[in-house]
Amino acid sequence: MAPHPSPRISIVAPTYRCSTCLVELHRRIVSAFAGMPGSDFELILVNDGSPEDDWQRIEELATSDSRIKGINLSRNFGQHHAISAGVDHADGDWVVVMDADLQDRPEEIPRLYEKAMAGDFDVVFAQRVFRQDPVMKVLLSRAFNLLINTLSSLPIDPTIGNFSIASRQVITAYRKLRESSRSYGLGILWCGFRVGYLPVEHGARFAGRSSYSLGRSIHLALESITSLSNKPLRMAINVGFSISFTAFLYGLYLILRYLFHAVPVPGWTSTVVSVYFLSGMILAFMGILGLYLGKVFDEVKGRPLYIIRKTLNFDQEQDGV
Ligand code: UDP
Ligand code: MG
Repeated sequence: MAPHPSPRISIVAPTYRCSTCLVELHRRIVSAFAGMPGSDFELILVNDGSPEDDWQRIEELATSDSRIKGINLSRNFGQHHAISAGVDHADGDWVVVMDADLQDRPEEIPRLYEKAMAGDFDVVFAQRVFRQDPVMKVLLSRAFNLLINTLSSLPIDPTIGNFSIASRQVITAYRKLRESSRSYGLGILWCGFRVGYLPVEHGARFAGRSSYSLGRSIHLALESITSLSNKPLRMAINVGFSISFTAFLYGLYLILRYLFHAVPVPGWTSTVVSVYFLSGMILAFMGILGLYLGKVFDEVKGRPLYIIRKTLNFDQEQDGV
């Protein structure tokens, strides 16, 4: 792609319990762009149904700077759905997606753009070489990436997240992916094009704490891997595995009892153990099938990815897509 002397860059940042970060996020983006003469930006802040005062903060900021655009979702749809809302409304030549909590540093935006220009890339992902996240989170994320790499044909760099810059052409392609189970980074990689990587410094959270508890992270990973969610069906898996585990312990007990005390009916132990164990496994695998059926169910409903309550500073007021 030919160097663009005056690119217009859309920055999309979903916010959920991030209100205390927004003023600082805006300040640092403005100062990062001061070093990119000729370039212009729009900052699209998507309030993902935050229970805190994120939207009020966005309204205040949008009044003081018309480059700040706000999208208020009707409820919490999840980070990746919120990103989609922002990306659907972005009209820049390039689109940057980043976290609002300043873990993705605004100072890296000019570097991402330069890398795209210098390497003729359509997308450049930031590599968080030293992640500023709890050890447990980093380990889980590694395990998740390993699984995803094994299960999918996409080669995924474990250090990347959503922080990236993508050309309008890539964004146009990405917008065509309308499935309800979504991950921005994985979706962009699926689109193909020329992908570059840039090692960046990862920041500590500016304020507040991560909205991803251990449970939520595991849940999100399961969602991405099977691309689905359906609680009762997941419960079937849990019940199945619990039964098998109990049968396993019970089996051990029966075997020991068989060895040390005489048991009147021969063959009884193995029959009982296998009935329980296999029943558990059958339930577990039915649950796994159910997970995929649940995914099909979610997708055939064809519901919108998000619902918008209000937008701010866009040329025309846009309703939910
Ligand atoms: N986020 C969101 N919706 C959610 C949870 C998180 O839009 O339901 C946003 C959040 O505001 C932040 C980004 O996603 O900009 C990453 O969230 P967080 O910092 O909590 O996650 P972590 O950095 O620990 O992965
Ligand atoms: Mg964070």
